Amino acid sequence: MKKLFFFLVILFGCETKNDSLPNVILVLVDDLGYNDVGFNGSNDIRTPNIDILSNNGVTFTNGYVSYPVCSPSRAGIITGRYQDKFGYGLNILYTPKDPKMGLQLSEYTLADLFKSKNYITSAIGKWHLGAHESLRPLNRGFDEFFGFLTGGHRYFPDEWILEDETEVKSQSDAYRTKLLRNNKRVEENEYLTDALSREAINFIDRNNDNPFFIYLAYNAPHGPLQATKKYLDRYDKIEDKRRKTYAAMVSAVDDGVGGILEKLKHHKILDNTIIYFLSDNGGSKFNSSDNYPLRGYKGELYEGGLKVPFVMHWPVKIKPNTVFEKPVISLDIFATIKSIINPNLKLNNPLHGKNLIPYLNGNDNNAPHEYLFWRNNGHQPPQDDGTRPRYITWALRTLNHKLLIRRNDSMFFDLDNDISESINIKDSLWRSFNFLNSKIQEWNESNLDPIFLGLKDNKMYNKLNPDRFK
Ligand code: CA
Repeated sequence: MKKLFFFLVILFGCETKNDSLPNVILVLVDDLGYNDVGFNGSNDIRTPNIDILSNNGVTFTNGYVSYPVCSPSRAGIITGRYQDKFGYGLNILYTPKDPKMGLQLSEYTLADLFKSKNYITSAIGKWHLGAHESLRPLNRGFDEFFGFLTGGHRYFPDEWILEDETEVKSQSDAYRTKLLRNNKRVEENEYLTDALSREAINFIDRNNDNPFFIYLAYNAPHGPLQATKKYLDRYDKIEDKRRKTYAAMVSAVDDGVGGILEKLKHHKILDNTIIYFLSDNGGSKFNSSDNYPLRGYKGELYEGGLKVPFVMHWPVKIKPNTVFEKPVISLDIFATIKSIINPNLKLNNPLHGKNLIPYLNGNDNNAPHEYLFWRNNGHQPPQDDGTRPRYITWALRTLNHKLLIRRNDSMFFDLDNDISESINIKDSLWRSFNFLNSKIQEWNESNLDPIFLGLKDNKMYNKLNPDRFK
């Protein structure tokens, strides 16, 4: 018996770090253009560290998010579910007294999944899934939180003049609050992006002996465009001031990724750490981003709103320099991680993503998804007359084609030959068009209309809730 015990101790002790549960770091950036990273071909922005993830992992050239603006896209990522299935179809408002404005407690989060295997979990950066106390990160599966609750934040500490939510008197005020560490407001002196990177690196130092999950949600390069001299100086050659600042903001994120890689290497845990890098939606019309060669921007169901820079790094399982061209979606992150760390766990709600590992290692040569779906409930981009009409639009992606249904027109694109969605082939392929349109309607049957008012309903919300900030 004693012998067996020692044998087990030796066996256990011999287990290498590469056989154990992987650490996971999900680096989510905000409003980054498809063409604004080195690995997608940017010729003015340099991202050497983010490119390492691409070189040592898999690059998804058709990697999508489930919604073209921040908050619903994040709800999709963190649940692994199409957010319209639970009525999360609009960008939320900052309403710290409203328990309904955010991710419902009936939804199981990615952090909950990690807790089911005793991971140490940390949310760093932009939360944007509910500002009410009950909806904050520490109630959603995270052991630690450092960051801010709303959809964006100013980047320089001297602008964080509001002590806490009691001093917030408008939607835009929330960009000026002091940062939160867990439930406490803290003093902070660093440029925001650097502070978030520092927190992630410190977390790795403190937890390198346990399996851990870091949800590192940079708000860069979301507006306002603000950068420090250190990063601006790298872009002397960019003359356009806004583009230069944007490039500098991306550079700050890249330095953060570099610091994380160095720290993982230092603790000898780099190879068994899964690192995702993606943007929550495509580049915005207003932050100087570049979605080339894609059509459209954030807020739209064209490729420019939905297709994002997207990589996954996991050297022990994924061959370096893998390029995966078949369509995948951010919802796959949850399903993939679940298959890796806790495949037998039963969940109450169905997941809508796929475990991508069999497709990445060549065990399955089919496309992971027959169809990907989108429903945009929000206001459409400004029209020539300045108005912002609101109506639902839908899209569907097959392996080769994309369907886009709007109120007064609909489009069908052959993405294999027309990545820029410039030629509408609906009339010549009307039979397929009609078939795919019926698939959208089928998918939409179980969707819920948004269960809360959205960012663009700010005035209406204030009228209905006069004590919002009291
Ligand atoms: Ca965003």
